[in-house]
Amino acid sequence: MSQVSRRPLSSKIGRRSFLKMAALSSAVGAGGVIASANATREATDAEVKNPYPNAKKVKTICTACSVGCGIIAEVQDGIWVRQEPAQDHPVSLGGHCCKGADMVGLLRSTNRLKYPMVKENGEWKRISYKEALDRIGEQLNKYQKENPDQVQFMGSAKVSNEIAYYIRKFAAFYGTNNIDHQARI
Ligand code: SF4
Repeated sequence: MSQVSRRPLSSKIGRRSFLKMAALSSAVGAGGVIASANATREATDAEVKNPYPNAKKVKTICTACSVGCGIIAEVQDGIWVRQEPAQDHPVSLGGHCCKGADMVGLLRSTNRLKYPMVKENGEWKRISYKEALDRIGEQLNKYQKENPDQVQFMGSAKVSNEIAYYIRKFAAFYGTNNIDHQARI
């Protein structure tokens, strides 16, 4: 077993090494059977200098709001492993807010919703996008016939001015003034 570190930050060590260390920590915590004194070693100079060998740098944008700040995503073997602000981005000029600064964490979160789900009889189950849209459409039709003011339309920080305009129009045609853009900045 390996690893780490003469430098404390996880960003200074290799991904595999970090995972090994995390697995080792779990093993120690669960069983207390591994002597911690021999469980680590110093990272090599090569690992410190380049923790993600052969990683590619990909220019992308943060999707957490419609500002669209620039991100340099580091991708190793198809996995987004690290990020930094794009210094040459014309809008953000190398800046990020706290949301954008951890987009990689958002992507890798085990809490991330990856597909539509519905709760039935107390249990969450996966459904297709078609089924999700059909269900939403049926509910919207039902509530519109009963009383459209039962429904509120919510925007998002990701929504641009133009999309907010369309949501407003949709709510008006639906028959309600219950709408909020959500991003009031
Ligand atoms: S959430 Fe923050 S980092 Fe992301 S685009 Fe908006 S302002 Fe930029």
